[in-house]
Amino acid sequence: MEFKDVSFSYEDNQAVLKDIYLTIQGGQTVTFIGRTGVGKSTLLKLVLGLLPADHGSITLNGIDVSTIAHSAQRQLYGSVDQNFPLIKGTLKQQITLNDPAISDEMVISALSKVGLSKLCTQVSQGLDALIPQELSLSEGQKQLVAIARAIATDPPILILDEISSGLDSVSDARIKDTIAKVSQDKIVLSVTHRLSSISDEETVVILQEGVVKNSGLAKDLKESDPWFKKAITLEKLLHQ
Ligand code: ATP
Ligand code: MG
Repeated sequence: MEFKDVSFSYEDNQAVLKDIYLTIQGGQTVTFIGRTGVGKSTLLKLVLGLLPADHGSITLNGIDVSTIAHSAQRQLYGSVDQNFPLIKGTLKQQITLNDPAISDEMVISALSKVGLSKLCTQVSQGLDALIPQELSLSEGQKQLVAIARAIATDPPILILDEISSGLDSVSDARIKDTIAKVSQDKIVLSVTHRLSSISDEETVVILQEGVVKNSGLAKDLKESDPWFKKAITLEKLLHQ
């Protein structure tokens, strides 16, 4: 995946992202960090082709993401939005989005990977339980269902926007573990505010005022980037 000189603005002359260059290899996990409102979610939306770049391009093996058909996108990307939206329908439909190619076995496997196997047996309707009428989900469970939806088809690219924000530390650790297991050869682009959950071997991209301020392995940036170092120290102090 290649970002070449990407710029984007929602409103005229107010660039949210500027001059972004990045090259991401298959199998690489990249975590975007930076202050609230810096443009992290916007950048992921550009990758998903939901927003068009004003300038420059994002390509996958040379193909511009903005030209990829909607039908191909679901096979290519598994994405978890920052808001974890659920659809009207059953537990199964939350995962399949009505794609007949996704079997019950794939749905059950995805739910089990995120630690939600119990949901299928909790009510008599099982996978056909209507949400929220027959089966209600907590905010954290909704988040896990959204993750199950993203990994159900085993897509080569995972795009995860703040997936651990509402999870307790046990669920968060399980999800990290699951994502690591299912993403061996995948590109994983994620956004997090929980800096302590970033592992040393992950590539981190620090966004500041719309530009890539720094990037590199987390273990190196912890030493060399003053902002990252300070933000991690502050986070540790706050959670002591
Ligand atoms: P957070 O950490 O809070 O999720 P973020 O880094 O994901 O923040 P974005 O959601 O990408 O930030 O927003 C970047 C900037 O673009 C912000 O200034 C925001 O107000 C603005 N913005 C976001 N969505 C829109 C929109 N639909 N229309 C206009 N401006 C927007
Ligand atoms: Mg965001």
